[in-house]
Amino acid sequence: MASVSTPLTFDVKSIRKDFPILNRKVNEKPLVYFDNAATSQTPQQVIDVIVDYYSNYNANIHRGVHALSQEATDAYEQARIKLQKHFNIPNAYQTLFTSGTTHGINIVASGYAEILKEGDEVIVSALEHHSNIVPWQMLCEKTGAVLKVIPMTDNGTLDMDAFEQLLSDKTKLVFVNHVSNALGTVNPIEFIIEKTHAVGGAVLVDGAQAAPHIKADVQALDVDFYVVSAHKMCGPTGVGMLYGKEKWLEQLPPYQGGGEMIDQVTFEKTTYAGLPHKFEAGTPNICGGIAFGAALDYMNAIGFETIAAYEHELLEYGTEKLKAIDGLRIYGESKEKTAVISFNIEGIHPYDIGTILDKLGVAVRTGHHCAQPIMDFYKIPGTVRASFAFYNTKEEIDILVAAVERAKNMLS
Ligand code: PLP
Repeated sequence: MASVSTPLTFDVKSIRKDFPILNRKVNEKPLVYFDNAATSQTPQQVIDVIVDYYSNYNANIHRGVHALSQEATDAYEQARIKLQKHFNIPNAYQTLFTSGTTHGINIVASGYAEILKEGDEVIVSALEHHSNIVPWQMLCEKTGAVLKVIPMTDNGTLDMDAFEQLLSDKTKLVFVNHVSNALGTVNPIEFIIEKTHAVGGAVLVDGAQAAPHIKADVQALDVDFYVVSAHKMCGPTGVGMLYGKEKWLEQLPPYQGGGEMIDQVTFEKTTYAGLPHKFEAGTPNICGGIAFGAALDYMNAIGFETIAAYEHELLEYGTEKLKAIDGLRIYGESKEKTAVISFNIEGIHPYDIGTILDKLGVAVRTGHHCAQPIMDFYKIPGTVRASFAFYNTKEEIDILVAAVERAKNMLS
């Protein structure tokens, strides 16, 4: 990501006051929360929206004529419009609420079972989360389509020459993440989209890790599908968004049958509702959707450029400090990177480091990060992953570095 100096208006001390959880202690030490790539923390402003919903207008949406139902419906549909505007989606009905990124990918993958034929090809990247691998493998098993893989290179980037070799008029779909959760690499999705469209294929971008840092404009990208999760961007768990081009959303069959997604039901023949309801069967996560909108308001008030610039400073600071530790290797050193540092110390298992860091109040993720093919590439069981958010500080990174030094001394 471009190195832009942080505007003076960014005051991390006052931002931290919005996050009550940052005041708590873990193992009698102040919490240092560096597991933001797994789930980000929630500001009071979003917590207040959740409390307000359940305190004042909790009701089912779309179906009730009573006041509470109408208030809940209005708030939910306004949240949809906030998402639409944020991602520059042409129409609100192309902005589908999901339960998260995994759900969004599965809606598309299961729908493609009716479109793909034996011998068609789909392409995945080596840098994907399991959520963006397994549904496509299941699809290929069902349809006889062939799964091809864009290889990665040692510095954690994708091999774009190899990608171009994989493309052909058989390519129906390419699915790639915007940012790798395990390494932080920002992938060249613009290039991937352009080249895939040139052979007539469509592209699904998994934006789960990009959305907390980069404001994606789906029309400028010309992407076919874009999926995100609210819980990685200061919102609650269990809610997310799927954007799709209208032509694809019209063509794909519904993912689930049930209430909300129908037009007319008879035992002879049921007709389906139009977009977005066709893909939104059952009572949705109403409060979650409303809170997702509030989380976007919160992040947009700070500004995504400001967030990215500040996090880049944290990334550079943390990278330099951690690299200075003897025997520490960082995985994923792309020039285009979000604030994720995935590392190991020679001869020490990542779980052991993570356990000691936890005792010292530092929350990191250890393991394969739902990206086993990346670990296989590096021939390692996993990494320690510290992922920063805009409410983290350089002082917290100093605590991490001291804790890693201590763990290293204890374990080697
Ligand atoms: N894709 C990426 C890149 C992710 O990082 C994650 C979560 O870590 C997912 C997909 C799955 O997201 P969710 O569990 O919210 O569906």
